[in-house]
Amino acid sequence: MNLNRLTAHEVINLIKKKKVTVLEVIQDIYNQIDKFDHIIKAFLILNRKEALQQAKEIDLKVKNEEELPPLAGVAVAIKDIITTKGLETTCGSKILKGFIPPYNATVINKLKEAGAIIIGKTNMDEFAMGSSTENSAFGPTCNPWDLERVPGGSSGGSAAAVAADEAFIALGTDTGGSVRQPASFCGMVGLKPTYGRVSRYGLVAYASSLDQIGTIAKDVTDCALMMKVICGHDHKDSTSANLEVPDYLKSCQEGIEGLKIGVPQEYFIAGIDPEVKDAIDKALKLFEKLGAKIEEVSLPHTEYSLPTYYLIATAEASSNLARYDGVQYGYRTEDYEDLSSMYKRTRSEGFGQEVKRRIMLGTYALSSGYYDAYYLKAQKVRTLIKEDFDQAFSKYDILITPTSPTPAFKLKEKVADPLTMYLSDIYTIPINLAGIPAISLNCGYNKNNLPLGLQIIGKPFDEETILRAAYNFEQHSEVEKKKPEICSTKGKEEAE
Ligand code: GLN
Repeated sequence: MNLNRLTAHEVINLIKKKKVTVLEVIQDIYNQIDKFDHIIKAFLILNRKEALQQAKEIDLKVKNEEELPPLAGVAVAIKDIITTKGLETTCGSKILKGFIPPYNATVINKLKEAGAIIIGKTNMDEFAMGSSTENSAFGPTCNPWDLERVPGGSSGGSAAAVAADEAFIALGTDTGGSVRQPASFCGMVGLKPTYGRVSRYGLVAYASSLDQIGTIAKDVTDCALMMKVICGHDHKDSTSANLEVPDYLKSCQEGIEGLKIGVPQEYFIAGIDPEVKDAIDKALKLFEKLGAKIEEVSLPHTEYSLPTYYLIATAEASSNLARYDGVQYGYRTEDYEDLSSMYKRTRSEGFGQEVKRRIMLGTYALSSGYYDAYYLKAQKVRTLIKEDFDQAFSKYDILITPTSPTPAFKLKEKVADPLTMYLSDIYTIPINLAGIPAISLNCGYNKNNLPLGLQIIGKPFDEETILRAAYNFEQHSEVEKKKPEICSTKGKEEAE
C-alpha cells in the first residue's frame, strides 16, 4: 500500500481509525528498505523480527480498544551511536563491530514507551566525525535525491532513510551540525535541541560538551511530536536539564505576527552558493509577509567558530575515545606480544583515518605546555561566541541563516581535503558552541533538484518558538513538496 510514504502523524491517525494495521505499516517500511536500501545504504542493521512482533502487539491493543501511546506504530530509525539493548551498536567503526549493548539509551526507552517501533540502526561517519557519512567503516550512504552525492553527515544514514521513506522519523546526533546539515542535504526537517534538553545517557560520546540527540522528520509536526517524547529530565545524565517539556504541537498552531527575526550578516559571506542565498532571501520575504519583523544583526566572533570547535571537539574526542583499548568492547587485534602492543594494534587497526587525525589533534591540544594556549583559549573564545548570541537574543526572538553554504556535494569530492569538508558545517557549529537550539527545514531546490536548507536558531530551551516559526513557514511556503525520484510511486493516494 506504500504507507511508508506518509508522515508519522498521518499514519498515527489511520491506525487510530483502524483504517490500517500497524503490521501493514511496518511491512511497507521493510518492503521499501528491501527495495531501495541496497542502493541507498542508509541502514547498518535491521531489527525486523522484533519490529514485526511489536507491530502485532500494538495491533492487539488497537483491537482491544486500549488507549494508544503517542507514537504507536511509528517506524523510527536510530543512528548507530545510540545504544540499543541486544542490537549491535557500532558507531560506524570497526573498533565496535560486534558490540551488543546490555542496556538501552534513555531516548530508546522513551520511544518504546511511546509505542514507536525501532526498525534498525543507521549508517554514520565513524564516531560522528564528518559531514558526509563517507567516514563510516562500512562504506558511504548515498543521497536519495542524487545517488552520486553525499547525504550529509554525520547522521547521513538517518536523513537518507527518512528521505527515502524507509522510516517515518529518525534520531540523529548533532555535535557541530550532524542533524541539521544532513536534514538539509536530504530535504528533511532536522532539529538540534538545546544542550541538556534530551538525555545523553546511552549516547556514545564524541565531544561531551557539544553532543546532543536530535530528530530528523518529514515535516515540522512530526518533529514536534517526537520532541515531546524524547525531551525531559533524566537523573542518569547529569547535564540533563530539569525543566518542563512544553506541548510543542500546540505552540506550532500560533502565528508569528510581530516575531522579531535577526539575520546574522556574517553568514552571508564569500563561499555561499548563490542559489542557497536566493532561497533564504525568498524565505525571509515570506516571514515578513506573515508579520515578522526582520533586521540584520552582527555576531562578530563568528569567524572564530571553526577553529574553536575543532580544538574543543578534538580534545574531548581524544579523551572520550581512550576507552577503546581492545579490553572492554568490540574489536581486538589478533596479533600482539604484550598489553602495550595489544592496545596499539587494536587502536591502529580499529580506528579509521579521520578518527585518528582527531585523536592526534586533540591529544596535542591537551598536552602539557599546550593546554593553556589551545584548549583553554578555545574555551574562552567559546564564551565570546555564546555572548554574541546572548546579545542578539536580547533583541530578537529567532535568528535565520542558511543551514549549509552549499547543497549536497558529490561523493569523494571533499574526502582528500579535510579542511573544505570542515567548512560545510560553518553555519551549524556556532550553535553547538553556544548550546542553543536550531532547526533546519527545506526552503527550495537548486536547478539540479537538490534540496536547500534554512536554519532557524532559538534562545536556550526555546524550542517552541523555532518550531512555531518553522511550522508557519512550512504551512505557507510555496515550495513544492517533492519526493526523491528514485522512490516515487503513487502511494499516498492509495492509502487514503
Ligand atoms: N562535521 C562536524 C564534525 O565532524 C560535526 C559532526 C557532528 O555534528 N557530529 O565534527
